[in-house]
Amino acid sequence: MTQSSQNKRTRVIILGGGFAGLTAAKTLDEHLNIGNDANLEVTLIDRGGSKYIGATNQFVLAGRKQREAVCNNFTPDSVKLNNVNIVVDEVTQLALAHKKVITQTNVYEFDCLIVSLGIDYYPELVPGLKDAGYNLCSMDDVIKFRQELAEFNGGTVIVGVSGLPYKCPPVVHEMSYVVHDLLVEHGVRDKTALIFTTPFKAAVPVVNPVVMQGMMDECDIKCHYEWNMQSIDSASKTIHYDEGKRLHYDLLLCTYPQKGATLLLETPDLCNDDGWIPVNGRDHRTTFEGVYAIGDNCANKVTFSGGRVEPHPKAGGFALVQGEYVAQVIIHDALHPESAEWTSPPFEMSKGNGCIIEGHGGRGVMFEVNFFDNPDKPSFQVIEPKEGLVEEKMAWVDSHRHTWFNDSD
Ligand SMILES: Cc1cc2nc3c(=O)[nH]c(=O)nc-3n(C[C@H](O)[C@H](O)[C@H](O)COP(=O)(O)OP(=O)(O)OC[C@H]3O[C@@H](n4cnc5c(N)ncnc54)[C@H](O)[C@@H]3O)c2cc1C
Repeated sequence: MTQSSQNKRTRVIILGGGFAGLTAAKTLDEHLNIGNDANLEVTLIDRGGSKYIGATNQFVLAGRKQREAVCNNFTPDSVKLNNVNIVVDEVTQLALAHKKVITQTNVYEFDCLIVSLGIDYYPELVPGLKDAGYNLCSMDDVIKFRQELAEFNGGTVIVGVSGLPYKCPPVVHEMSYVVHDLLVEHGVRDKTALIFTTPFKAAVPVVNPVVMQGMMDECDIKCHYEWNMQSIDSASKTIHYDEGKRLHYDLLLCTYPQKGATLLLETPDLCNDDGWIPVNGRDHRTTFEGVYAIGDNCANKVTFSGGRVEPHPKAGGFALVQGEYVAQVIIHDALHPESAEWTSPPFEMSKGNGCIIEGHGGRGVMFEVNFFDNPDKPSFQVIEPKEGLVEEKMAWVDSHRHTWFNDSD
């Protein structure tokens, strides 16, 4: 142990106990658990309440899981972290120049800050949307939509995307297949037009042409790509898109417009106008020294084939790797304060980030992305659709719940 690492305590604060924040906290916790010598004091702050992994929305929509079976309460007792102070509180202000975080009840000083506050929903960006459509990212809304669908007698159902970027690009396809299956189950599929609309050319460019469009065709789901939702008239049940296009709907399930968490919109020195935090794509440092941002609240972009530059896809799988990586950077910096930059990661960062996309008929597609070797130009590997990946996805969700929470049985 170096003299400086013996003496200097590094106060690390992690804001937000979702995929990204919990993973960073877990990585730091494990480091402290095995008696490693970085002199770290770690605090994780989250507003608490009921937490669920986004992917479980489609399990609940399909009726494969009940809400109670996928939710965990975020409390100091329920979170499985031995060496991390768990604080349940609302963060109200970031005084970054003074290295302070202000919550409803306290003020915390930090040496290192990890911001992982995720996104918030802004339905008002599409006038009329809040009264017209269910938010497919909200568990409450998905449950209400499932109930409405059970009483639906036929007509037009639209599943779609109201604005970019949004969490988990393939989720709208996954939800469309589930909606198709529910309409079949209720005996009204032949009386229902199922339509999919998105501003994207393709949700996941490498996967879309290979498998997803084929499955949409198989389910007779009419797809409108590069359609931008502008407003909704709930009286006439009409969705207005750009260039004067419009569609009638009877039921609407779509993503609500998303931006950085509300607090971030109120922190312009850290964020851009939409509340996203610009970061260095490799180590997730922000413009403030000692302040990192990971997960959905980041503004980083990636260049896809053909030179298209788009926001880095927002997904739990990517948030996990970012959380682990930044925690390792902090451990390294605490142990070796004299060395300016961490150039040799202690774990294999070239590994891909796997993501299982639920397809139709019990099939799934696994694809892997490598954002780290060249963060500006990711490389993809698609594994052709196969049976059993849906169960694998449920197991993936459960394994994280078990890793993070005591009350996950
Ligand atoms: C329907 C759906 C399906 C999905 N499917 C998948 C999938 O199959 N695979 C996949 O990899 N990803 C999936 N995702 C995406 C994944 O859930 C997100 O990318 C992931 O949750 C991002 O993690 P995060 O830590 O950045 O944010 P979050 O998980 O949203 O965590 C942010 C935390 O910050 C807290 N917070 C915010 N503001 C404050 C404040 N002011 N004070 C205190 N606490 C605050 C919040 O309460 C929350 O706990 C899906 C998402 C949805 C909605």
